[in-house]
Amino acid sequence: MKYEKFGDNIYVMIDELFYDVVVGAIELPTKLIMIDTGMNLRKIKEFREKVEEVTKKKFETVFLTHFHGDHVIGNQHFSDCDIFASKWTVDRLNIGFPKWTDEVIEEQKKRIDDPLALEGLELTPANKSFEGQMELVDGDVKVIVKQTGGHTKGSSYIYCPNYKVLFAGDNLFIDSYHWGGEETCDPDKWIDTLKEYLSLDVDYFVPGHGPVSNKEPLKYILAYFELVKSTMLKMASAGKSEEEILKKCYNLDFYPINEEEKGDVEMKELTLKKMYIWVNEK
Ligand SMILES: [Zn+2]
Repeated sequence: MKYEKFGDNIYVMIDELFYDVVVGAIELPTKLIMIDTGMNLRKIKEFREKVEEVTKKKFETVFLTHFHGDHVIGNQHFSDCDIFASKWTVDRLNIGFPKWTDEVIEEQKKRIDDPLALEGLELTPANKSFEGQMELVDGDVKVIVKQTGGHTKGSSYIYCPNYKVLFAGDNLFIDSYHWGGEETCDPDKWIDTLKEYLSLDVDYFVPGHGPVSNKEPLKYILAYFELVKSTMLKMASAGKSEEEILKKCYNLDFYPINEEEKGDVEMKELTLKKMYIWVNEK
């Protein structure tokens, strides 16, 4: 677990035991806000305690970037806060959490290399929602939360122009291949979202997975998305088969994946397949 500080007000924790999933906090003039709550109950509790101790402030608000388990499992340690997510995400959590049977939780435990990560889990949904966009103002500092879609229909970013930081959730995977096989994933919205990020005044992009970065990796990722899309369109109009198109796209140069890991190969294949379906529906 890596704990890092950026600028004067940004705290980030990266969990290398679970695909480098990222959570973070912003210190506002009078209070703290949390972005996502991760997959490791023990570590998220420690993170909260540590940031509250260092800043001598309390967490009052949580923003969830999207509904996937690795970003919301730690909610129970913020049940005294307003936990916001886009309306779509709140609805999905309310539908999804009852499906987390003991069996599912045991399965999830196997995915994390920390036996205590899910000990004492109490699934805690969001308790506040917004539609489209919302703002939180504390003194002269503003935080903008906006639903863009992309990785999931409810995916949202959290942007603080004062501190030039943007938390992207899983619309940004840095240094690893992104998961885009979710049923409501919209590759066009994802491309638009990456362009929107690049148009904003940001020094610190906090991804859903991977290291905090400047704009450079975003340009690389956007170029890849656009290359995949144009390759698919070009090959489809030249009458190439789905198999040929997916093979060609699989071999395009991008963040390498671990070919030994069946799960990683499947993730990339399903992500490309989702893009292929999308392109063909257009
Ligand atoms: Zn996700």
